[in-house]
Amino acid sequence: MLAARCEIDYYNASAPTDTLEFNLYPNAYRSGAKFAPVSEGMRTRAYYDGESYGGMEITAVEGAAEWKVCGSDENILQVTLPETLETGARAAVAVSYEITLAKVNHRTGVTENAVNLGNFYPSACTRTEDGGFLQCEYYSNGDPFLSDCADYIVEITLPAGWGAASSGRQTGADGNTLFYELENARDFCLVLSEKFGKLSAEANGTRVDYYYCDDADAETVLDAAVQALLYFEEKFGKYAYPQLSIVQTGFAAGGMEYPALAMISDALSGDEAVYATVHEVAHQWWYAMVGSDQLNCAWQDEGLAEYSTLCFFEEHPQYGYTREGILRSATEAYRACYSVYGQLFGDADTSMTRHLKDYASDYEYVNAAYNKGLLMFEALRVPAGDEKFFGALKDYFRLWNGRIAPADALEKSFSGRGTDLSGVFESFLQGKVVI
Ligand SMILES: [Zn+2]
Repeated sequence: MLAARCEIDYYNASAPTDTLEFNLYPNAYRSGAKFAPVSEGMRTRAYYDGESYGGMEITAVEGAAEWKVCGSDENILQVTLPETLETGARAAVAVSYEITLAKVNHRTGVTENAVNLGNFYPSACTRTEDGGFLQCEYYSNGDPFLSDCADYIVEITLPAGWGAASSGRQTGADGNTLFYELENARDFCLVLSEKFGKLSAEANGTRVDYYYCDDADAETVLDAAVQALLYFEEKFGKYAYPQLSIVQTGFAAGGMEYPALAMISDALSGDEAVYATVHEVAHQWWYAMVGSDQLNCAWQDEGLAEYSTLCFFEEHPQYGYTREGILRSATEAYRACYSVYGQLFGDADTSMTRHLKDYASDYEYVNAAYNKGLLMFEALRVPAGDEKFFGALKDYFRLWNGRIAPADALEKSFSGRGTDLSGVFESFLQGKVVI
């Protein structure tokens, strides 16, 4: 169980409002949740000790006239403010809460070797165009999160002998209490363990730490993270945070990205662990620094993270992956998926701009967002040429760093470089291209 208090200094950049809303992601792990956090296909790998449930209980809210837990799946904390919060004004709200952690190899839970604290606090809902709040329901496909950037000051007291990997820069310690800070980030994550080993390196002014419980190839993983950070800085732009934590932990899929922290599944080793590490480091550019709508346009961060991974391996042949090999595997996997779906359901929906809830399975989600996404970026790069392709990605990064890039932002970055690729975007995103 985790007992916590979250003091929020909320700045209203949107329309005046009488209420504030926060996503309560840990409630997705409770018994009877309408939206299960783990897909059927991953349940056995995720729930390593059988069925297990958690949840989040709000015990007090200060600074509120009223508050309630609501939403379609007890996923929202709605706070009624004592008075209207005008545009440009600030409100102070403090939420006390307790999280019961399920035994699960997932974002928020007790894994076999570590405790994953992803999405572990009330996370301010982004505002919609009409001044409302975007409520994120949990889906087992994809990363059902969308958040604006904030500054964090975090204090955590650990049991004796435990260590922590964090999104933040550690600013001090007092016995078992650790202090962290992180600026301008859209989330904050911690992973705790009493078994962590740690290797560190420096990459162009950024400290890179690799935390692991059992990894004979720890040096290789750390080095891949360092090389990837250096390569993506050169290709896309400067990394924004003072440090990057790569963490080997229990995770049913390959890995999970948070700002300045990546979880890498402890079920991976060798080449697979290196591939996942490079993909998660790419997410620092495409998700962490440049945000995008992961609920409706998963290709925008996953496809681009996959393609950035391909570009890294193309320039670093020592890892054994090639551009041709990665393209071939993505094409074959995509064709296999859609021949299955085509046979099962007749005309398959192959569009990529689709809500997470509209994928039939995570198999289909991975093929649409990762594999087809990767193939779309290859189809953009070939006609554009490398200079315009990487130039457009640099422009996209510079323009949207620290913000949420709309779905057409990439297309605009390409046209800004004098290359009209709207036909490629349209044919892939609307599912007209045949692969
Ligand atoms: Zn990813």
